[in-house]
Amino acid sequence: MNLAQLLVRTARTHPTRPAILLGDRPLFDYGTLAGRASRIARFLRNSARLEPGARVAVCMVNCVEYLETLYGIWWAGLTAVPINAKLHAKEVAFIVQNAEAAALFVSDTLAADVLSQIPDLRDVFVPGRAEYDALLRAEPLAPQPRAPDDVAWLFYTSGTTGQPKGVMQTHRNLYAATTCYFAAVDDVSADDATVYAAPISHGAGIYNFQHVLKGARHVVPESHGFEPAELVALSRSVGRLSMFAAPTMVKRLVDHVQAADADTAGFKTIVYGGGPMYVEDIKHALDTMGDRFAQIYGQGESPMTITALSRDQIADRAHPRWESRLASVGIAQPVVEVKVADADGNPLPVGETGEILVRGDTVMAGYWRNPEATARTLRDGWLWTGDLGSFDDDGFLTLKDRSKDLIISGGTNIYPREVEEVLLRHPAVQEVSVVGGKDPEWGEIVVAFVVGTGVTSAELDALCLDHIARFKRPKQYRFVDQLPKNNYGKVLKTALRDLL
Ligand code: AMP
Repeated sequence: MNLAQLLVRTARTHPTRPAILLGDRPLFDYGTLAGRASRIARFLRNSARLEPGARVAVCMVNCVEYLETLYGIWWAGLTAVPINAKLHAKEVAFIVQNAEAAALFVSDTLAADVLSQIPDLRDVFVPGRAEYDALLRAEPLAPQPRAPDDVAWLFYTSGTTGQPKGVMQTHRNLYAATTCYFAAVDDVSADDATVYAAPISHGAGIYNFQHVLKGARHVVPESHGFEPAELVALSRSVGRLSMFAAPTMVKRLVDHVQAADADTAGFKTIVYGGGPMYVEDIKHALDTMGDRFAQIYGQGESPMTITALSRDQIADRAHPRWESRLASVGIAQPVVEVKVADADGNPLPVGETGEILVRGDTVMAGYWRNPEATARTLRDGWLWTGDLGSFDDDGFLTLKDRSKDLIISGGTNIYPREVEEVLLRHPAVQEVSVVGGKDPEWGEIVVAFVVGTGVTSAELDALCLDHIARFKRPKQYRFVDQLPKNNYGKVLKTALRDLL
């Protein structure tokens, strides 16, 4: 079992189908993509002399060489370590060293900075430079065998706190996540295209597999990232465009579409996840762009596969529990069992909040060379996600917050998400994040950081009194220009707490 077989299979049956596009220009068909991957594989094994299982780091901005690099690594029987290109060079160096990567693929624009931190690395390949062209002149290699539980992708967690850990995602994990997509999230056909607006090193890249399997097109934006106007233009020229987007990206895209009064018929499915999507925001997205949204909840430790809220469920306005479903992350994906448990792992009744536990073929093998963290996170066959949530009678899971973000004020639990949902109802509030501030009397108090102009604390207070219990109301409002976010657009609540 080797993920490279997905590409082998499609290249054999549909060699002339377009595979890689730069903007709307087709560059490589599937036959060419597979040929390039097999040559990269030969070079890595024969010239760079990497042994099966050796780690190869990839720190590249989204580019047309990204997929051939990943598949070349798997084709050669090696392990890929994709690294977010927005990380600081020192953070990249930490990951390269922690993974004991033997080689590195790095973008031209990042090479000088990154290499200054890891001067001793022997094999470095920069697309566009001579040593990368040398890779592509090697003879093709037959795909190398891998066992299902061999590590395919060493996925460094985004780390909103502490040092990132390497999640060992095996070939089995990623196969299971791939096939589950078709059952839980969306169908894919050969006419479809997936656009990499979010980093390939993360969720957007994990969704390459479904599109390779179906022989669909992979679109790399010329901007290499997320530009709403460019995406709208691509949706028109490429058509049937799907993408994975963090909720903050969805919001920006929707705002652009509304301001430009753009036609969105060329978008097929926008899958959002990776952070909370507020009810007001998804409703606005549906009103503006139509019923083309699906949601997933996952984490590196069970990549993209814990629960999903399907397009139909999101579109079902007539359902009596539509709003609460929009606030949820949907139902368990069919590849996993999901339970909400108490501190001993016992399942809790419907409606009660506890930690979310996951079991199934997509759950990671553990953290790379970190048995302590693995033992804390994988217990009795279950993945302890660190997320809190509760099920409703229909099996829809609503996330409360990460356990560390929970606010305990006067001994009572307050879930920031609930307060955030209410504050966002105010039309002038653009973004909000609620955290606990230390308080001698209450232990913690609720503090809301608010981005928005022309809105007062009194108005927000009144809004809260209308919708939630008095004790959940923020005791302080801090108006800010923006919220601190990590490189994946997740709000850094730790940084907000530090501000307090
Ligand atoms: P990462 O491993 O970096 O992808 O981060 C995973 C974490 O992001 C999860 O443990 C959740 O806390 C959060 N997350 C992922 N998907 C969602 C979602 N659909 N809604 C809210 N939070 C999410």
